[in-house]
Amino acid sequence: MSAVLRAAGLTVSAAGREILHGVDIEIPAGRRTAIIGPNGAGKTTLLRALAGLNPRYTGTIELAGRELHSYTARELARVRAILPQERAAAAGLTVRELVAYGRFAHVGQFSLRTGAADRDAVTWAMETAHVSAFAEREVHTLSGGERQRVFLAMALSQKPRLLLLDEPTTYLDIAHQLRVMDIISQLNRIHGMTILMVLHDMAHAMQYADDIILVRDGSIAATGTPAEVLTEERIAAVFGVEVEIFTNSRGIRVPSPVALVGE
Ligand code: ADP
Ligand code: MG
Repeated sequence: MSAVLRAAGLTVSAAGREILHGVDIEIPAGRRTAIIGPNGAGKTTLLRALAGLNPRYTGTIELAGRELHSYTARELARVRAILPQERAAAAGLTVRELVAYGRFAHVGQFSLRTGAADRDAVTWAMETAHVSAFAEREVHTLSGGERQRVFLAMALSQKPRLLLLDEPTTYLDIAHQLRVMDIISQLNRIHGMTILMVLHDMAHAMQYADDIILVRDGSIAATGTPAEVLTEERIAAVFGVEVEIFTNSRGIRVPSPVALVGE
């Protein structure tokens, strides 16, 4: 099993405080890996460092076998795309225009010419994210669920091998959550895209991830399959919540929170 991303001794500090404390992880190619953990555990910090968005780290990060520092921004954009937790404003842009921005890495930095491959990639990204129907609408006129899929399409237009997502379903209603999670799984299954996603919903992690990385206080508390990592005991220890885990009629384990530990 080859690793598309490998971090060793990864340490990240911000504002004079160490946030990640020497993390060692491997992200296998072709799988869906979920990073989960309590608020403030360092999930976003980890994802951004792995995406190459934070050059001030110590330790090593290898992407496709090459140290991250050796990539140019353009090279990086050909390999990985990220859907960040905080979305940029897109005032005045149509859906198609915003998605086309995702192709900039593939067009020469000083060239405004876009070719058929760029247009095809934009069309494919909009179809895959189910946003073609409103391609000519301005992004700010869309609902939250529609807009989230537009930003997903923007990341997809890079046609990355590795897709990183930070809480892709936050603020979405349950139907939009499932739609986004299904698109992500299709990208993995049909296009072989490696998925690394921060998920805040443990039930989603159980249903949609092949592997789990559990982060606690800036360190890795556990890694493995959802069934190995997400046990009632470990959830109580890391999240401070007593849960009961059931298996639903589809054979998927689902956690039901019962009470705060000790109350
Ligand atoms: P998570 O995504 O797991 O909720 P984050 O990675 O966003 O956690 O943050 C982890 C910790 O690092 C938090 O305590 C947060 O306040 C702190 N932190 C993150 N980024 C910065 C920053 N730029 N400056 C100062 N502290 C930060
Ligand atoms: Mg976060």
